[in-house]
Amino acid sequence: MPEGHTIHALADRLERAFRGSAVEATSPQGRFAADAERLDGRVLDRAQAWGKHLFVDIGDAILHVHLGLIGMFPVKHRGGGEPPAPVGAVRLRLVGPEHWADLRGPMICTLVDEKRQREIVATLGPDPLRRGHGPGPTWERVHRSRRTVAELLMDQSVVAGVGNVYRCEVLHRLAVDPLTRGLDVSEQVWREVWDDLVLLMPLGRAFSQIITVPDQVQDAVRARRSGRARAITSRLTGERLGDTFERRFLVYKRTGEPCPRCAHPVQERDIAGRRLYWCPACQERH
Ligand SMILES: [Zn+2]
Repeated sequence: MPEGHTIHALADRLERAFRGSAVEATSPQGRFAADAERLDGRVLDRAQAWGKHLFVDIGDAILHVHLGLIGMFPVKHRGGGEPPAPVGAVRLRLVGPEHWADLRGPMICTLVDEKRQREIVATLGPDPLRRGHGPGPTWERVHRSRRTVAELLMDQSVVAGVGNVYRCEVLHRLAVDPLTRGLDVSEQVWREVWDDLVLLMPLGRAFSQIITVPDQVQDAVRARRSGRARAITSRLTGERLGDTFERRFLVYKRTGEPCPRCAHPVQERDIAGRRLYWCPACQERH
């Protein structure tokens, strides 16, 4: 499932492509036809993400999208011509002066009003990618919980946008024992987890790939600071993962391979239905 950085990158891309323009909206597949008609010819004002939820203001309606497991919403340049005929089940097609975007296979695609949007957002925890969000409200939940840190990090009502890869990688980066219960975690450690997400997730957003290995993180931070990342970001359509950096992780899907810190074999187990990868030898902090 796409993690929050993917949805924020999608919101950025939709704004770059369509903001301030009237969009042609259709539902080639037909399932969203009446709602698409409401959007058709209206101006796209804003696109924003909160965790894994996307909200796009078009005319007086708000398009609410959750990609779920298989959803895709690539944004492509028209190159001066008409967009190609839709292929497969396209729920919603947006066409602007220079770009077009096809939404396929979303878990949620619906129009909402501001009240409903507020209700949805109220179910979500703070999002490390949203300005002004902090770990305070999450700590209130965490330090009273008997659930493990590994579970809490995947709960969208605790932290919005984190998925399995960031969960496993951040806990390893900070040497935190993922099986520690929330009530046994120190506030210091929880703040470090939050701060690491605030460092890493913007890199994922900029490069369309999850970057957690220290040498790659350093390079990616430098590329963002110098403005070099911008040219890369603007070329990404969202159709596939970015490939600026070699795809490497510390523990994610590295079962049996040596831990990069202590060489003990990485382990995996199921926690709340998702595979957790971690090093039982050196992830001891709580
Ligand atoms: Zn280790």
